[in-house]
Amino acid sequence: MVIVLQPKATENDIEIVVAKIKQLGLEAHISKGTERTIIGIIGDERKIQREQLALLPKVENVIPILKPYKLVSREFRKENTLVSVDGVNVGGNEIVVMAGPCTVENEEQILSTAETVKSCGAKILRGGAFKPRTSPYAFQGMGEDGLKLLRKAKEKTGLKIVTEVMESNEVELVAEYADLLQVGARNMQNTKLLRTLSKIRKPVLLKRNFSATLMEFLMAAEYLLAGGNDQVILCERGIRTFVEYTRNTFDLNIIPVIKQLSHLPIIADPSHATGKSDLIMPMSRASIACGADGLIIEVHPKPENAVSDGDQSVRADKFAQLMNDIRPIATAIGRTIAI
Ligand code: PEP
Ligand code: MN
Repeated sequence: MVIVLQPKATENDIEIVVAKIKQLGLEAHISKGTERTIIGIIGDERKIQREQLALLPKVENVIPILKPYKLVSREFRKENTLVSVDGVNVGGNEIVVMAGPCTVENEEQILSTAETVKSCGAKILRGGAFKPRTSPYAFQGMGEDGLKLLRKAKEKTGLKIVTEVMESNEVELVAEYADLLQVGARNMQNTKLLRTLSKIRKPVLLKRNFSATLMEFLMAAEYLLAGGNDQVILCERGIRTFVEYTRNTFDLNIIPVIKQLSHLPIIADPSHATGKSDLIMPMSRASIACGADGLIIEVHPKPENAVSDGDQSVRADKFAQLMNDIRPIATAIGRTIAI
């Protein structure tokens, strides 16, 4: 259930509604928009008498939300949510490109990649320091040393940093360095991690698990919003199907579907979705054409030497070409990409 207040509602009016909700043994979630305040009710809705709530001062409307996801739904919030990644807005008119290596390997690799992607218009540098590898024998990431290199790259270039956090007890550490904390596909339903991330004051990039339905994806995001963090960016990165010619099947359908059902921004990851560097450009164009708010792309100075995901990394000296090729698509649909 969602309570929409009249535009002239004051802090005192909000408090009265919240007190009533608490009195019923339920939780209130306040969302202040530019026009009006909306209060979401979390808990057993059978305790609510809609007519009673409608009589409270400055209440305009009480709307039942039938879907299991509430706070992430468009019914809860009509306007698109803007997520601020240390001042870079995702979810607005500008398409934000995040780029960098799969894994932070050494100082030279991350700094040179950062300089290149920055000069081409990327706004956010990606790079894993804690890596969720399929094999326990594969390189697991540089850990905090990798985070320190990401910080150095930020200081040199001004790029914001997105990096993965895998464990609830590492959230505090990663949040010291990251501007955007990535939940990888394998951890999308790690509810303990989601709960911890819901309590921090930094945005979260939630990647779709390769076997997650639309509903499971949105419910994972609901954990973050229900815990108090509404700064969430969704990411489609490909799902498992019978298709074997690409690493995953890029479910582009979900992008416009999420735009209909949710106010949260959604970006696309053509690197993991295809697994092939020569498919990244066409699928980046396709992602933008169908409404993605941004892209996250793996870029490496020498993909043949990459510690992980070299096959799906754009060679750094080809990245400018990719950015030039995607810009006209953004323009065609009335959006922009930074130069
Ligand atoms: C990554 O971004 O490097 C990564 C591991 O992605 P995913 O969790 O989507 O597999
Ligand atoms: Mn990767």
